[in-house]
Amino acid sequence: MNNKILVTGAAGFIGFNLTKYLLSEGFQVIGVDSINTAYDVKFKEFRLSKLNELNNFNFYNIDLSDHINLNKTLQNYKFDVIFHLAARAGVRQSFKDPLSYIKDNTVATVNIANFCKDKNIDRLILASTSSIYGDSGNKEMEENIDEKINPPSVYASTKLSGEVLANTILSDSDTKTVITRFFTVFGPYGRPDMSVLRFIHWIAEKKDVIIFGDGEQRRSFTYIDDVVNHLMLSKDLNDNQTLNVGNNQTESLNNIISMIESALGINANIVNKERAFRDPDVVLPSLKKSKNILDWEPSTTIKNGIKSTVDWYLTNRDYLKDCNYI
Ligand code: NAD
Repeated sequence: MNNKILVTGAAGFIGFNLTKYLLSEGFQVIGVDSINTAYDVKFKEFRLSKLNELNNFNFYNIDLSDHINLNKTLQNYKFDVIFHLAARAGVRQSFKDPLSYIKDNTVATVNIANFCKDKNIDRLILASTSSIYGDSGNKEMEENIDEKINPPSVYASTKLSGEVLANTILSDSDTKTVITRFFTVFGPYGRPDMSVLRFIHWIAEKKDVIIFGDGEQRRSFTYIDDVVNHLMLSKDLNDNQTLNVGNNQTESLNNIISMIESALGINANIVNKERAFRDPDVVLPSLKKSKNILDWEPSTTIKNGIKSTVDWYLTNRDYLKDCNYI
């Protein structure tokens, strides 16, 4: 097999796990990432060191918001598929630094869409987020957002504008675009600014476990292998789609902590702090479209996913324990 695939954000959590899977399936992968400092770069260096051990992987450290450098670096490649996963994530930080979010999420996505159009790329898989929906209450959020939508954060606004601009730019092109809206992904090689990995680190190292609010907020925790599986199915779709990638079993942060306590055999020392600005109570996806179109449903239970993530942390503890989790 000689199919070339571009993965942007390859040093990031989801990009890394997808790239590792693609390489194991015999694809040639070109990875790009700017290795930004949104969280401790030691996580990105760790992931890249693992990818560099594998065959058929080439990596470029470039900033995708710089379209001149993007085109110069990638001009001689012919890609069958582009997975655009690079982004600046994080809801809270986005209010403090909106311009970085516009650069990394909106401008970079416009540059990738233009690249797809110029190069007649068959398929673009564009990562987006459940954050654009805000609080769902008990209603399962459908992908169709013709109704008035009010993204609750700068992060969500820049991701939504990336979706809209990519669709507009590619509307009269040969590129089919699949937008995948992820709901709270967790698993090995995860992000230190997200709850699951921080909780594991804090409990394993007997540090205070900080929860913003009372811990009863519920999220659709989705295990990374299920997300990679969804991305692999999405790359073979022949039409434009927008699909939720989540879990319709939500869990509270308090329950996640209990699962980690059991997996580690250690009790957490919980410290509750003020709830974050506009933090939703519940975020619940409708999975009907992903089920109908891809025959996809998450297959990893949250408990098993937590156990695998704890095992990964313990195996790599010497490296992970001294990284920064704030
Ligand atoms: P991540 O931060 O671990 O990975 C993103 C990578 O993109 C980082 O390594 C970063 O350095 C890189 N990057 C940022 N701006 C760049 C630029 N201008 N040029 C090149 N590289 C750049 O995040 P992740 O969790 O792997 O998220 C992947 C995608 O999924 C993102 O689009 C994110 O918005 C989306 N998403 C993730 C989650 C989740 O739960 N992890 C949930 C919803 C949506």
